[in-house]
Amino acid sequence: MAVIPLYSCLCGTHKKVSNHWVLARITESDIRFFPWDTELAQKDDIIVLCGEACASALLSRVLGEWKQRSVSAGEANDDADDSDTPIDDNHDGHVQEKLFAL
Ligand SMILES: [Zn+2]
Repeated sequence: MAVIPLYSCLCGTHKKVSNHWVLARITESDIRFFPWDTELAQKDDIIVLCGEACASALLSRVLGEWKQRSVSAGEANDDADDSDTPIDDNHDGHVQEKLFAL
């Protein structure tokens, strides 16, 4: 007797026969979307989505995570730069001296 797998989207919707569902897979470096495929849908790393709305919501979330990741990397670089620039502090002191002189 065949087992009928039950699919449910991230939003909680359960798959029905007539729905236009899609599949997605997220890896470390990319995100991919696939047309519905019953065999693919049963794989562990596949995300089941009930349609375009949830697919784009997932895409936004992943893009946000990528953005966060690149911002964090940028902050790390900025910190390194700050520790190596005492010149800026001297410059500010010089400007203050000038203002007092005026
Ligand atoms: Zn959904």
